[in-house]
Amino acid sequence: MILSNAEQKIIEDSIRDIKDFPKEGIVFKDITTLLNNKEAYGVLMNHLYQRYKGYNLDYVAGIDARGFIFGAALAQMLGLGFVPIRKKGKLPYTTISEKYALEYGVDEIEVHIDAFGENKGARVLIIDDLIATGGTANAAATLVKQAGATCVECCFVIGLAFLDGIKKLQEKTDVYCLIEEN
Ligand code: AMP
Repeated sequence: MILSNAEQKIIEDSIRDIKDFPKEGIVFKDITTLLNNKEAYGVLMNHLYQRYKGYNLDYVAGIDARGFIFGAALAQMLGLGFVPIRKKGKLPYTTISEKYALEYGVDEIEVHIDAFGENKGARVLIIDDLIATGGTANAAATLVKQAGATCVECCFVIGLAFLDGIKKLQEKTDVYCLIEEN
C-alpha cells in the first residue's frame, strides 16, 4: 500500500520545520502541527492501517516518545497490543536495554523482558516519527530480537534520507518512510 501524492502532500504540508532547535544547525520536524490537524492525522493513520492490516502483526512497538502517539493509535486500529520502547530508567519491571551512539555520547533504550508474550517469534512493527542517523531505531530492532520477537518492519513518518540511517537500518530489517527528505 503506497501513499498517493495527494495524501503525501497533506501530511508533508502539516509538518512544521523549526530551524536551530534544539541547537544550531538542526532543522527540527515538528509533528504537533500534524497531530492537531484532523485531516492530516486522519490521512496518516488511515494509510498506516491500510498498509499494515495485511501484515499479520502481533504487536506494534513505539519508540519514546513520539512513536507512542502513532504506535498506540495504530495498534488499537489493528486490534493489536502496544509495546513502549522507553528511554532508560522509565520501565518498572525487568528490562533488557541497548545503548546507541549520539553525536556526543551515548543513550540507552529499554523494553520489558516479557513485552512480546511467551511465544517466541511474535511479529512486531516498530514505529517512530522520524529516522535521522538510525541509531535509535537500530537499538530498538535489536531489543525486539533480544526479547524473542521478530521485527517485521520499521515505519517512520519522516525519513532524513540525506543521512545514511535508512540504508544502515535496511541491512537489518525492512524500512518504510511515508515522507523522505533528500
Ligand atoms: P536517530 O537515532 O538519529 O535516527 O534519531 C531519531 C530520534 O531522534 C527520533 O526519536 C526522533 O524523534 C528524534 N529526532 C532526530 N532528529 C530529529 C529532527 N530533525 N526533528 C525531529 N526529531 C528528530
